[in-house]
Amino acid sequence: MTNEERSLEAELLDPDRLGFDPEELRARYRTERDRRLRPDGASQYIAPTGDFGYYAADPYVEAEPNREPLTDEVEVLIVGAGFGGLLAGARLRQAGFDSIRLLEKGGDVGGTWYWNRYPGVRCDIESYIYLPLLEELGYVPSEKYARGEEIRQHTVNIARRFDLYRDARFQTEVTSASWDESKRRWNVTTDRGDNMAARYVIFSSGPFSRPKLPGIPGIDEFRGHTFHTSRWDYSYTGGDQTGGMHKLADKRVAVIGTGATGIQCVPDLAEDAGHLYVFQRTPSVVDERGNRPTDPEWARNLPPGWHDRRRNDFLAVLGGDRTAEDLVGDRWSDLAHLHNAVADEAGKEELTAEEHELVREIADFHKMNQVRERVKSLVEDEETARALRPWYRYECKRPTFNDEYYPAFNRPNVTLVDTEGRGVERITETGLVSQGVEYEVDCIVLATGFQVGGSHPAASGLPLHGRDGVTLPQHFRNGMRTLHGFTSHGFPNLFCMGPSQNGVAPNFTHVLDDQATHIAAVITESAKRGAAYVEPTPAAEQAWVDEMSAKAGVDRALDECTPGYYNNEGHSSVVRSFYRPDELEFAETLRGWRENGGFTELLVKPGETDGDEPN
Ligand code: NDP
Repeated sequence: MTNEERSLEAELLDPDRLGFDPEELRARYRTERDRRLRPDGASQYIAPTGDFGYYAADPYVEAEPNREPLTDEVEVLIVGAGFGGLLAGARLRQAGFDSIRLLEKGGDVGGTWYWNRYPGVRCDIESYIYLPLLEELGYVPSEKYARGEEIRQHTVNIARRFDLYRDARFQTEVTSASWDESKRRWNVTTDRGDNMAARYVIFSSGPFSRPKLPGIPGIDEFRGHTFHTSRWDYSYTGGDQTGGMHKLADKRVAVIGTGATGIQCVPDLAEDAGHLYVFQRTPSVVDERGNRPTDPEWARNLPPGWHDRRRNDFLAVLGGDRTAEDLVGDRWSDLAHLHNAVADEAGKEELTAEEHELVREIADFHKMNQVRERVKSLVEDEETARALRPWYRYECKRPTFNDEYYPAFNRPNVTLVDTEGRGVERITETGLVSQGVEYEVDCIVLATGFQVGGSHPAASGLPLHGRDGVTLPQHFRNGMRTLHGFTSHGFPNLFCMGPSQNGVAPNFTHVLDDQATHIAAVITESAKRGAAYVEPTPAAEQAWVDEMSAKAGVDRALDECTPGYYNNEGHSSVVRSFYRPDELEFAETLRGWRENGGFTELLVKPGETDGDEPN
């Protein structure tokens, strides 16, 4: 560090100037992280399989009786009918593709919005930018932050509008996929006995599609009722996503987990349960929501192109672009505005990487102080307010936004059980133990999240064999190898959607739409040019791996975070394989690639072979 950097650091971190002591905050954050680090890391969780398979069963649909197995061929097979799969289908339909089949494990389209129907579920990104294809469907959501059911209905409307139900199969899980080089087709089998062929396969199985259960000792001994939030049992609770769970009136209910899901379901449970115990290991950031109904006049006057403009503007603001309009104007942009303000205080045209990191940290301190003040102002009991205050950096966990969560703790029938970072100690036949005290309950709701990324074909254990029987994990044995995150050498005509070796953004549907648009363009170009198949050359794949190592890197700030799925439960430095700086630049890179001859890296023309052995 230069002398100039040192003096700027001292100036920016001056407690008198800041009004708080940054060293105290740093020390507190470290203490809170250290008390939560566990040697078992991510393996503390158990999958809902085998004896725990009950937790994954679909409560929303009757099991479909056996159907005739499929043995036909389709042009494009899409695995997963959440927003990713639907967007891929929609973009391909727009490009004129007729033979498209969606395969989906759930009973209908919707993905995460099919499964997550817990009370209070809403999008945490403004619905005018979260819901995709709004202009195509001529729809404007009814509220700034729409309810889950409205979002699920939008997924149904997308499937209808783009005729994606026509050949879809539900309650069907892929059991294997293998590339047949002689036919240049994928053979795909399912748990329904299907054995079908597909020219192209697109996997979009979603990062949040596999629930995880806490491996708390005794979890299988509880004699009361229990379920995971993504399989809400309304037959037990009564009511629906809007609340009204009358069957809980005489019940003692425990919620384990205070992440984005726990925050959303607690207010309704507080209202309806005889008594609610909220078991907290780490408090979330719960910021102001400010939901409101859509102004019909505003909706009527939205000009063509408004949706893209608004979504891009949102990401531009988050990326610190001072020329952006901030059309969404919600709490998501606070950190970026604070960052710009602190950068201004630094008074330098160009910040070094270290100075930039310092500015980022100071902006974060300011934001987190606001969040902690908010708890104090909304929670009456001092001890409860103290326990609800989060002590880590804003970017350590997905921030949440809710105006009913903190006030719920002012109710006499709600108890916060703060486990002080240790988690629930034990589950007994009749309740839960924390710090030696047993809390007897009738029902345990597990708001304990998902095996994030576990459904990617390279991580799911799915037998997926490319050319010469090579599997994706074999191809990735020395690290992920893709072009743009979607395609890999040795796996012709296979596309994997999702956040890996590509861009990322809090507005995940925006990311998925960029991905779907690109994949559809590649498949269209392949058909147009009469290409035998689509597969990156080893050189193109290597170039992308190199570019990603240069652009991704290790996020030191995450190492300092309390454990969670963002940092692999606090274990090891996390190499974030995301394209920096952001999704906007990634989408721009893809566009440039398409317009400037990129297809030559990917398309194999008839009669040509790729000339290389698979890696
Ligand atoms: P998370 O993984 O974010 O949260 C799981 C919660 O369970 C954490 O609070 C965790 O504590 C707690 N927990 C785990 N084990 C124990 C234990 N043994 N004892 C006590 N507590 C325990 O899952 P969510 O379902 O809340 O959210 C997952 C993601 O889904 C979000 O990050 C978000 O991206 C998305 N989501 C989006 C929504 C939207 O509005 N669009 C709504 C809901 C979710 P700890 O923090 O200490 O690990």
